Amino acid sequence: MSNTHDLIIVGAGPGGHAAAEQAARLGAKVAIIEKNQWGGTCTYRGCVPTKALLACSKQYMNIKKLRRLGISTGEVSFDYTAMKRHQQQMVTVSSLGVQKSLKDAGVNLIYGEGKITNPGEVLCISPQGDAQRLVADNIIVAWGSEPLFPSHIKLSQRILTSDGFLALDTLPESVIIVGGSVIGVEFATFLAELGVKVTIVELLDQIIPCEDEESAAFLRQELTRLGIAIHTSARMETLQEIPNVVHLKAIQKTQALELKADYALMCTGRKPVLLFDELNQCGIEYDRKGIIVNENQRTSSEGIYAVGDVTGGVMLAHRAIQQGRAVASYLNGDRSIKYSEEAIPSVIYTHPGVARVGLTERQASEKGLNVETRKVEYAANIMARTELKGNGFVKAIFYEGRLIGVTIIGDDAGELIASMSLVVANGMGTKELKNWIIPHPTLSEILHLL
Ligand SMILES: Cc1cc2nc3c(=O)[nH]c(=O)nc-3n(C[C@H](O)[C@H](O)[C@H](O)COP(=O)(O)OP(=O)(O)OC[C@H]3O[C@@H](n4cnc5c(N)ncnc54)[C@H](O)[C@@H]3O)c2cc1C
Repeated sequence: MSNTHDLIIVGAGPGGHAAAEQAARLGAKVAIIEKNQWGGTCTYRGCVPTKALLACSKQYMNIKKLRRLGISTGEVSFDYTAMKRHQQQMVTVSSLGVQKSLKDAGVNLIYGEGKITNPGEVLCISPQGDAQRLVADNIIVAWGSEPLFPSHIKLSQRILTSDGFLALDTLPESVIIVGGSVIGVEFATFLAELGVKVTIVELLDQIIPCEDEESAAFLRQELTRLGIAIHTSARMETLQEIPNVVHLKAIQKTQALELKADYALMCTGRKPVLLFDELNQCGIEYDRKGIIVNENQRTSSEGIYAVGDVTGGVMLAHRAIQQGRAVASYLNGDRSIKYSEEAIPSVIYTHPGVARVGLTERQASEKGLNVETRKVEYAANIMARTELKGNGFVKAIFYEGRLIGVTIIGDDAGELIASMSLVVANGMGTKELKNWIIPHPTLSEILHLL
């Protein structure tokens, strides 16, 4: 294949993948370069492996509930090696799916490290060290992100980030999770459900600090019920590996807190991958949060665009995907696919899950909006009750009849939020919800009560 393309994409995570596939389907000649794994963080170290493990622990817990329905199962046990196999199989399936969809769309897949030398030019170094010069009208940077942790913490065999923790083959007996936001509470759920002694240490006074306070309190109660010890308002001072154990010292409000466990898992955030030499050489502006882009994902350098976690902000796979599709449509299509920051849904895959789109009550009041809040309990829905899912609620925020935010905590929250995203993104509200016909009996009918 010739080295001249319409579009070159560096990085094959969800953002790069979506941009490449969309642009190729629109008729562009596209190359995508990946130096590690096809599918990126999402497939190998993020969405897919964590959800595969959470699916295992959820099914294990669900079996224990079956007695309520008159079903006896005898003694229930699990095989962690088989669970890890499921994790690995799902990663493989996902990665093969990424490669197949790119090939089916006609994208040129190049394995190697891409270096943007100038606008319009990328040098690709193969794993064997061979260099290939590629040229294109446009380039998309989709380098992704990596774990972020305080500089005074030294990673070790027992002090790990999510990357290292997902590579463990055995289940520890005890884990301290530093950081009670999305990644921290998801790991906590799966570990505690499998009987690991879990302690969360969170700096702020609320776990999942970006979410609705009432939902965070509800989740805290549920995690506590699972046996997880949660310390909020606790600032980690030191964390060290001493033979066969980790030792953490923190200050909780004014009290000293000392904890020991087999492992520590750092869930203190993620940062964009910023390759400074290339950014500076090409005149691409960036700040601490990531590469700076305009509303069309264009960087400060003509012909260079950026999508996904490398642009900072809310680091989620579907955000990266929509940015990728939008920039492909902008460059190679009719520009009808748009990306908007306003209505990016987020899902926390705890049990129960927490899902949100748009504003929380607190965010709305910080904007000075006089909102109406409506709340419906899962227990009011007969399908929830029949399926033993009656624990949770939906909270909706309306402004002048328009739905501007929804938070759902309960089973299948992530599925329910999808329809609410459409409502929020399209400025719909009371009028449309009133005329929406929802099949009966379904959990979705909760949304009718809003
Ligand atoms: C534990 C965990 C759980 C998560 N769970 C979810 C979830 O449930 N839902 C959700 O929406 N999001 C989740 N995320 C976040 C999600 O994984 C990211 O938002 C998403 O992967 C970002 O996509 P991206 O395309 O920007 O970058 P990435 O997925 O990070 O991919 C970037 C790719 O670029 C490649 N690359 C970088 N530099 C070069 C180079 N010079 N040459 C060639 N290749 C290069 C990298 O090897 C990598 O494959 C999770 C993240 C973590 C860590």
